[in-house]
Amino acid sequence: MEQRFINIGDARVAYLEEGSGEPVLLLHGCPFGSFVWRDVIPALASGYRCLAPDLLGLGDTETGPDADWSLRAQAAMVVGFLEALGIERAHVVGHDHGGAIAQLLAAEHPQRIGCLVLCNVEAYDNWPSREEKPFLVAAQTPVIGRLVLWLWSRRPVLRSSLIRGAAVCDRSALSDELLDRYIAANLGDARRRAKTRRFLSGQMSRTNQRTTLEVLDGLRRFDRPTLLLWGADDPHFGPQWARRLREDIPGFRRLESISGAGHLVMVERPDRFAQAVARFLSDPGSPREVATVREATCCVVGAGPAGAMLALLLARQHIPVVLLEAHADFDRDFRGDSIHPAILEVLDQLGLADALLELPHRKIRSASLPTNPPLSLDFDELRSRFPFMTLMAQQHLLEFLTQQAAQYPAFTLITNAAVRELILADGQVHGVRYRSAGGLHEVRAALTVGADGRSSTVRREADLPAVTYGSAIDVLWMRLPRRPSDPEGIMSGAAHGLLILAVDRGDRWQLGLTIPKGDFPRIRAAGLEPLRAAIASAVPLLADRVGELADWRQVAMLSVRADRLTRWYRPGLLLIGDAAHVMSPAAGNGINYAVADAVAAATILAPHLKRGTVTSQHLAAVQRRRDWPTRITQFAVARAQNRLLAAISRGRPGPPAPIRLALRVSFLRRQALRMAAYGLRPER
Ligand SMILES: Cc1cc2nc3c(=O)[nH]c(=O)nc-3n(C[C@H](O)[C@H](O)[C@H](O)COP(=O)(O)OP(=O)(O)OC[C@H]3O[C@@H](n4cnc5c(N)ncnc54)[C@H](O)[C@@H]3O)c2cc1C
Repeated sequence: MEQRFINIGDARVAYLEEGSGEPVLLLHGCPFGSFVWRDVIPALASGYRCLAPDLLGLGDTETGPDADWSLRAQAAMVVGFLEALGIERAHVVGHDHGGAIAQLLAAEHPQRIGCLVLCNVEAYDNWPSREEKPFLVAAQTPVIGRLVLWLWSRRPVLRSSLIRGAAVCDRSALSDELLDRYIAANLGDARRRAKTRRFLSGQMSRTNQRTTLEVLDGLRRFDRPTLLLWGADDPHFGPQWARRLREDIPGFRRLESISGAGHLVMVERPDRFAQAVARFLSDPGSPREVATVREATCCVVGAGPAGAMLALLLARQHIPVVLLEAHADFDRDFRGDSIHPAILEVLDQLGLADALLELPHRKIRSASLPTNPPLSLDFDELRSRFPFMTLMAQQHLLEFLTQQAAQYPAFTLITNAAVRELILADGQVHGVRYRSAGGLHEVRAALTVGADGRSSTVRREADLPAVTYGSAIDVLWMRLPRRPSDPEGIMSGAAHGLLILAVDRGDRWQLGLTIPKGDFPRIRAAGLEPLRAAIASAVPLLADRVGELADWRQVAMLSVRADRLTRWYRPGLLLIGDAAHVMSPAAGNGINYAVADAVAAATILAPHLKRGTVTSQHLAAVQRRRDWPTRITQFAVARAQNRLLAAISRGRPGPPAPIRLALRVSFLRRQALRMAAYGLRPER
């Protein structure tokens, strides 16, 4: 690859050039150099003329001692560079600081750009990043700054600084060769280090920083094809910035995330990077056309228990609500069939409980714990109109809720509608985009509610902070036939270190086997026979049919996890149910908490939705109301799971002695039953 020089004004600009064809201008970031493109250029050069200049102040580009190195000066240099080479228009690929220059070009010299590719760029007010600031401050400190840069010029120190600065995910990408190029470009001698220090001081200049906000007007008019190509695991400028840019660039065509790649995505995954750029340049695709736009007061994403209940409650109050569901119908993966008395009581208040109970279901009136002597919990002690746990296929519950909602003109259900993106503007969520057979569609709403479950797209798109609870267990799911003569309800037992729960689902038993976390490969390696033997010995009734378990494909492994958002909302958006707090399936209470969230959200928000005055304070009120019950429950369930696991491994499943004793006291037993039936802070 050839390094060349060209005079642009007072600057002598160094650049790499290779290949022929349409020109592709590659703009590097801070404080790097054209060397970062060295592994990308060969892959692009077969079809394109690649040009990668060193920015003013970096690498081998030389300027006068007081030359302007601001973003605006860099953009002027780039325009001069193209002119000097006789290039009217080039495809522009910008990374980090180079991406900020590319935005400036797009805003102020759009005619110069063929296609635009932005990757992990400085944009808006996101720079310098939090991770970068300590480096910048250290570099600017008198005396110490010089020492810091000198230390960076030592390969091991530079490597560890880049690792600490989270430049890459894969440390092996920081090869000796790359580091040597870095050092040669920016740190090799006192003069280069002084240049680099001065360049870094520009990162702290408010005037310079404001440029990426000033470009917004122009950027919002830029309609040339634009690819956002992002290292997905970049703590500096993560994918949330790509999502924001997507909304601001009319020419936006695609967002491609490269997972497992950090800030220096082109260094870490050069082949993947070059392929994505080449693919885009050869076929940028047509502008995204939104087939339909629908307006609603509230858009609910996900017709699970939380979303379906919320939509029903809002529609009943004549609040226009659109419910979007990714699946074609409600016959989904098994997600539990339990309907707690708390849910029936809510439906009863709406006059719907009796109608629901006309659908096929089973009532569990008591549960026996695997203790010696056996301990039975009797729901009759609840003093509720519904002293039982209902087992009903979740499909029936969801169909019922949405059919009830459909009686109100304010309600619209759209199935086969997989939500992909939030519509964002000025930091506010204005609805969602979803994909269905007819293409891309928008629902614009004053409030968007993410109720899309444990793998929530809305949560991911909203970048809300979450904490995860470790779990000591995983669950294996499988089915065995259920005979008409079998007992109804739930059976449980433990054997061979496994706790087994069998849930009556009409013509089959849904089996959940609690196993120590990460143990599935070992269990699988041991073969199906020990698994069949464990089931037969834990639940003897199933001994005559465990032979039907003939293939590991009949066994699904669910990695049990629980997490919760520390903030459930942002302006225009609220998350509820599993999308806000994944509940462990082991506790069998996630549906109850999801419905309770929906009831609380409807109660608090409906008056404001009617008046069109929903604010973040109202959304915060929903979180305040529901946060602590879910937190405490998640904590208690995690503790119980760990204890249960220990007890099973000791061959003594069931609650510990103090709890067994407490459950023999009728008042305490009733409280335990109330917890099981209603959860903490039931909503009405
Ligand atoms: C295997 C298993 C067994 C369980 N057993 C029980 C049990 O016995 N009792 C119990 O109370 N809890 C149980 N749970 C937990 C319970 O399923 C959840 O806590 C509960 O379903 C959460 O309800 P939700 O409405 O928040 O989310 P979900 O029920 O997950 O519903 C989310 C909905 O959003 C839709 N969706 C997802 N992404 C999109 C998108 N991008 N666009 C549009 N729609 C989308 C999904 O298709 C789904 O319909 C179990 C969970 C699992 C995984």
